[in-house]
Amino acid sequence: MAQIIDGKLISAQIKEELKEKVSKMKSLGVEVTLAVIQVGADPASSVYVRNKKKACEFIGIRSLSYELPEGTSQEELLDLINKLNERADVNGILVQLPLPSHMEEEKILDAISPLKDVDGFHPQNVGALCIGKQGFVSCTPAGVIQLLKRSGIEIAGKECVVIGRSNIVGKPMALLLLRENGTVTVTHSRTKELKAVTSRADILVVAVGKPRMITEDYVKEGAVVIDVGIHRDSEGHLCGDVDYESVAPKCSAITPVPGGVGPMTIAMLMNNCVESVKLQG
Ligand code: NDP
Repeated sequence: MAQIIDGKLISAQIKEELKEKVSKMKSLGVEVTLAVIQVGADPASSVYVRNKKKACEFIGIRSLSYELPEGTSQEELLDLINKLNERADVNGILVQLPLPSHMEEEKILDAISPLKDVDGFHPQNVGALCIGKQGFVSCTPAGVIQLLKRSGIEIAGKECVVIGRSNIVGKPMALLLLRENGTVTVTHSRTKELKAVTSRADILVVAVGKPRMITEDYVKEGAVVIDVGIHRDSEGHLCGDVDYESVAPKCSAITPVPGGVGPMTIAMLMNNCVESVKLQG
């Protein structure tokens, strides 16, 4: 029977730990503040923003909310980011994606001070991760590392295969596994013989963005499988990039969807907010 890695439980533990840390910081007169910017009223984005604000409230992080109309110009948004960059009482700045099509996402994200970039998307933070320096790490892959560590799964020396090479999941995931001394292979849409490569994995992290694509024939007996994907199928049920039903019996451990990687992303965002105070120190 595969161990089911409980992301809900682990994220709740992390949030409790952060709550305690924040309360100690408050008693020393230190307040943590996150500025959350949303442009437009995309319903999915509104749900994400609401959940982030709720998590802040639970932990004791002050959140400042900027809900800008869809028609906001890029200059106006850059102006707000610059003001928040300069404010000593703001530790973290988060711009909810996607942005409206008239905005250049890269330009906006690059404008956030690397010291306040709690999403870990700024090139300076990505570079820091690459060469092993301190900085913010993208929340979802950081959450995967926590899931593995807190489930007692050793990474060092293991054959780790990541499916996907996006800037926010696949690439930082590979770098983090490498930092933990895994032997890492990154696969993508041009990989030949994908099944042969993934079947070597002791730890398989799937961030391919295709519902239930990874079936049992991609997975080695006894592997640990982490499913980053999240989709709603034709019947309205949530599912991942992994075909859970066929893969789970073959694994030593697996994350479910929902309740696996998903809840970790916000927990790690909150962790980055708390860490920002140290980085800015
Ligand atoms: P992207 O679409 O940006 O990247 C997908 C990657 O998979 C690309 O590198 C692509 O390769 C690769 N790929 C696509 N098709 C294949 C294939 N047939 N064989 C091998 N590789 C393939 O997705 P993201 O990285 O942003 O997200 C991945 C998944 O994770 C999605 O399901 C997303 O919803 C989910 N997600 C979940 C989060 C959470 O909090 N749980 C947070 C972020 C994402 P190439 O580069 O060659 O195109």
